[in-house]
Amino acid sequence: MLYTSTRDSSLKYSAAKCFVQGLSVEGGLFVPESFPEICLDEIAAMSEMSYSERAFKVLSRYLTDFSQSELLDCINSAYNTKFDEMGVAPLHYVDDSTAVMELYHGPTLAFKDVALQILPHFLKHAKVKENENALILILVATSGDTGKAALEGFSDVEGMGISVFFPNEGVSKMQQAQMCTQEGNNVFVCAVNGNFDDAQTGVKKIFADTSIKEDLLKQNIKLSSANSINWGRLVPQVVYYFSAYADMIKDKKIKVGDKVNFVVPTGNFGDILAGYYAMKMGLPVNKLICASNKNKVLTEFFETGIYNANREFFKTQSPSMDILISSNLERLLYDLSGKDDTFVASLMGQLKENGEYKITDEMFKELTSVFAAGYADEEKTASAIKKMWQENSYCIDTHTAVGVAVYEDYKKGTNDNTPTVLLSTASPYKFPHAVLEAIFNKAPVDEFDAADEIKKMGVKQPKQIAELKTKPVLHKAVCNKEDMPKTILNAVK
Ligand SMILES: *Cc1c(COP(=O)(O)O)cnc(C)c1O
Repeated sequence: MLYTSTRDSSLKYSAAKCFVQGLSVEGGLFVPESFPEICLDEIAAMSEMSYSERAFKVLSRYLTDFSQSELLDCINSAYNTKFDEMGVAPLHYVDDSTAVMELYHGPTLAFKDVALQILPHFLKHAKVKENENALILILVATSGDTGKAALEGFSDVEGMGISVFFPNEGVSKMQQAQMCTQEGNNVFVCAVNGNFDDAQTGVKKIFADTSIKEDLLKQNIKLSSANSINWGRLVPQVVYYFSAYADMIKDKKIKVGDKVNFVVPTGNFGDILAGYYAMKMGLPVNKLICASNKNKVLTEFFETGIYNANREFFKTQSPSMDILISSNLERLLYDLSGKDDTFVASLMGQLKENGEYKITDEMFKELTSVFAAGYADEEKTASAIKKMWQENSYCIDTHTAVGVAVYEDYKKGTNDNTPTVLLSTASPYKFPHAVLEAIFNKAPVDEFDAADEIKKMGVKQPKQIAELKTKPVLHKAVCNKEDMPKTILNAVK
């Protein structure tokens, strides 16, 4: 399997090269040249497999430059011991045809662990394959969850460094505590005055700045990305779509070949794009339902075919979805346009210049045949948490609740009764204040007190929460977005 760029399809790279490089030279994103097929018989066989075995099935089709033992090392290092006893992607059935896929049983209590526990191991092997001797410095802009998950994945991994920028006051207190207490000799954490897009734009600028790259290279340091634009972030997420489907077969909720909907709380469009890739590989999908919060740029895009980022930015209770530029959408556009790299490059140019672009009618038709979309404002999101608790004694976080609320609207609007998987992207313990507010209209101000209240409701508390309370704050740096390049250079000195 070779990979190319969304903005220059003449380029051909191995998976290892894509992992190490992160972003293509001309700014495009790496995409597989084709989608490997997994047939229904193979999917049926997955129902008897462990998560790691399912991961091997899917990943071996894409990482053809990795040997079997290398791939097994990656999978086992990531998934055998780092997730709690529930496993990587367990299903919780709300009713007979609706399952919640809990993707938050990893070390940082959010779904990003699924990718970020394995990415460092992909990189470890990829470096050897690419004869890369430099220290790889992973640069991350985070809206909250990626940062901690990346820190946790890369901390003290030999030959790697990790630097994380998060929007000051744009993440929850719990998220901030998680990041600022991170241990490890190769970690750097810094708050940026601004929102997530400021932090992300700053990181993208550093990647594009040749003089910084030269300065770093003098110290034998090369930059790479762990944002969801890295192929190594995306490909592990394809696995759990197959896993959910296989579990539903095993649990006798569906028969092999039946179609399933997936509802995905969406920000940077990485998670839902992985679902699209799974569908392209042969997973029977009816609709992929893209759920947004009050920052509903994607909802409007799915309604009109116009992506318009020129709008007010809202801070919500689902901060990991507070995004106006969903970077991974570029990969979908590439596919929908019939791999038209020139057209994609022009759309991305328009986005950069004017904050807006429009896709062709043909692409729009294709888009809406696969995707549905909706958004939930703060009030609706809170109601979804409350309703889920009252009716099912099941506690969900704010991000998951956006998906639940959007799905409820979708069902009302379409009468579609296709079996559905709701992706649950974070533990309610990650946003305890907002969760309690939603259910009881009041909550302790302190996030840790709020977490203890949730425990009293009978929801199992992960051990990480108690540990976090006593950990010392190790990172206190704050910078302006213009100073991010300087900050990085100082940090590596
Ligand atoms: C990152 C994140 C999302 C959004 O995922 P994307 O891949 O960026 O669309 C949703 N929920 C939570 C909890 C997240 O951390």
